[in-house]
Amino acid sequence: MTKRAFNFNAGPAALPLEVLQQAQEQFVDYHGAGMSIMEMSHRSAEYEQVNNETQALMRKLFGIPDNYHVLLLQGGASTQFSMLPMNLLQPGRPGAYVMTGSWADKALKEAKLIGETAVAASSEADKFARIPNLGDIEIPAEAAYLHITSNETIEGTQYAAYPNSDHVTLVADMSSDIMCRPVDISQFGIIYAGAQKNLGPSGVTIVIARDDLVQNSPKHIPTMLRYDTHVKSSSLYNTPPSFSVYMVNLVLKWIESKGGVAQMEQYNRDKTKLIYDTIDQSGGFYRGFAHAGSRSIMNITFRIHNEELEKLFVKESEQHGFVGLKGHRSVGGLRASTYNAVPLESCKALAEFMADFQKRNG
Ligand SMILES: *Cc1c(COP(=O)(O)O)cnc(C)c1O
Repeated sequence: MTKRAFNFNAGPAALPLEVLQQAQEQFVDYHGAGMSIMEMSHRSAEYEQVNNETQALMRKLFGIPDNYHVLLLQGGASTQFSMLPMNLLQPGRPGAYVMTGSWADKALKEAKLIGETAVAASSEADKFARIPNLGDIEIPAEAAYLHITSNETIEGTQYAAYPNSDHVTLVADMSSDIMCRPVDISQFGIIYAGAQKNLGPSGVTIVIARDDLVQNSPKHIPTMLRYDTHVKSSSLYNTPPSFSVYMVNLVLKWIESKGGVAQMEQYNRDKTKLIYDTIDQSGGFYRGFAHAGSRSIMNITFRIHNEELEKLFVKESEQHGFVGLKGHRSVGGLRASTYNAVPLESCKALAEFMADFQKRNG
């Protein structure tokens, strides 16, 4: 049996063991081609099949309507922070941002370099421990879009429901929760996500975009940063990150084999309940960071009343085979990232370790 860590890394993060083993089997000789997928032309029939099938699987599993494109790009979600406003902002039409934490802040900072912006709502006064009430979101009448961060990876907060998009183009950074639950794609104009948290390895960024928004990018935008370039070439304008796309393809097939995205959500809820219950039943020894209604089913952030105990927790957890439980330096404390591929067994083991640690140190 392969020894596998209890991997709670925030990103890059755990991948399904079955996927890694399948990639291993095909690594040296992809379907009898006598070479790995990495060694093939991106114009080959084999790679074209991977490219097309990956987009089709995304559509099928995530319920993406026909009037949307699935793009497989490079540069990470961080490049989308500027690519999005470059393509969509116009003079007099600001990008409105909901400020929910560290990643929303980075998205807004980049947009400010490109054009006009507005803050539609913020939970900074609550240290970003919650998602703002949807009723408090104020969208400028002329806004080009409303940008949200569906899951704040560092703070451990997640939207329970999305803002109304009847009168605005809703855009979401779903880097840390894409396909963790079913979503009504038609609510959104554009969704983007780096793959390395919930869908595969780093190197590929998924953009799901409604047709009318990406047909004609402004003329002055560089070729690689124009959505229309990648729409017209089906994401094969230049050399794609072929191995990463291939890995996403395998992860999508794994999601399908597990029953699809709705099953993923149930699984994620079962997994996180084990850990949130342990926090809530600890009599205050562990304290969840996120407010109850904003808790994420992808990143669980929590603290122990004493920083020395937090350090001891991390150290002892590592001795017990756990990885990645130290919180992000900007929030401190502890964090368990429980993405789709993190097994229930890892979460059970963590809940047991937490209870035992409390018994010894409470
Ligand atoms: C990790 C992350 C990013 C940054 O993604 P890169 O692919 O590293 O650029 C952006 N947004 C969110 C919500 C993230 O979790």
